[in-house]
Amino acid sequence: MKKLTFIFCFLLMICNAQSQNIYILCGKLIDTKSGNIKTEQTIVVNQNKIIDVMDGYVMPRNAVDKTIELKDKVVMPGLIDMHVHIEMEYDNKTRINKYTLNEADVAYNSVGFAKSTLLNGFTTVRDLGGTGVNISIKKAIEAGKIPGPRVFTAGKSLATTGGHADPTNGSSRVLIGNPGPKEGVVNSVEDAKKAVRQRYKNGADCIKITATGGVLSVAKSGDNPQFTIEEVKAICDMAKDYGMHVAAHAHGDEGMQRAIIGGVKTIEHGTYMSDKTMELMKKHDAYLVPTITAGKEVAEKAAIKGFYPDIVVPKALAVGPQIQGTFAKAYKKGVGIAFGTDAGVFKHGNNGKEFGYMVEAGMPAMETLQSATITNAMLLKMENEIGQVKKGFFADIIAVDDDPTKNISTMENVVFVMKGGKVYKK
Ligand SMILES: [Zn+2]
Repeated sequence: MKKLTFIFCFLLMICNAQSQNIYILCGKLIDTKSGNIKTEQTIVVNQNKIIDVMDGYVMPRNAVDKTIELKDKVVMPGLIDMHVHIEMEYDNKTRINKYTLNEADVAYNSVGFAKSTLLNGFTTVRDLGGTGVNISIKKAIEAGKIPGPRVFTAGKSLATTGGHADPTNGSSRVLIGNPGPKEGVVNSVEDAKKAVRQRYKNGADCIKITATGGVLSVAKSGDNPQFTIEEVKAICDMAKDYGMHVAAHAHGDEGMQRAIIGGVKTIEHGTYMSDKTMELMKKHDAYLVPTITAGKEVAEKAAIKGFYPDIVVPKALAVGPQIQGTFAKAYKKGVGIAFGTDAGVFKHGNNGKEFGYMVEAGMPAMETLQSATITNAMLLKMENEIGQVKKGFFADIIAVDDDPTKNISTMENVVFVMKGGKVYKK
């Protein structure tokens, strides 16, 4: 019997040595599902998962386990931003970058953007468009080669000729070429199908279309419809076959309506959304991704002479200040809100500013947090893996100094970041 006990203890020792548990002692812990804040909780993490959440401060039972003290912090699940551009950060050189930077330059620049995003509490992002380097960044993060958030990427966005995401907009005729479905430019139902299949082949996780004109493209209109309803429908139907959802950049109302009827899951920006379109959003279970921070940023930068090309300035001044008001109206009408910022249009890592703008517009702080966690996890079909501090979920855990329901600006200063059980900031 003694011998058996000895063998059992020995085996237990080996098992524990192989897998250390981390006990995180939380002064306050936000339950995003119920919207309650619990006090004195202990999260137990083993490898990349949460294996237990217990009442009170529970100390490890053996020497190999580790404790992280966050007794004076407010702990919550890692945040999810549904709209970033991990490859770029807009500045006054952005317009010429496409002619001067090689893919490797873009990739090296992105390393810092991804890291900054993660260190500011965003453990998951949906990347809504770049050159395609974003797919490689996603892979490098997944393989543990560079620190960054979990990335769901659209690869290169889809536009129509001259549309918001046509990659040769504003170029001279020598450089304009004839981009097609492979490059993300479609002009028919057949093109649309081919472009979606190409994105799937390239390794994209979702599809982004630019349903209307946009602010920062070198083109006249910031809000005209740029896809036919048949094209949108073909894209959405095709995306569905490959398990992907579709996000639509949209400022103008007509393009937005076509996108929603065509089957997109999220409307990005939504600037000139009418009451009728808000009802349509609810009917089709589509979500608004507000990007208020980007709206504020473009309006501010448009005032700096020469920062944007001349053709962009009036669009930035018209669209930018509208976004927060539209969000306020849509929220009050009961449109589903998916937290998203458009980081890349402003500095990566400042994503947390969005919370304050949402609260300022009338959304309660706890709901903003739920939007950035459970709502976004559901839209990414990750609701059983991220967005909550819960047994069996990924150990994506962050902490701030203050209670965000009392001081929302604390979300701009994340002090602890764990992603997949690994501590990146403490
Ligand atoms: Zn964007």
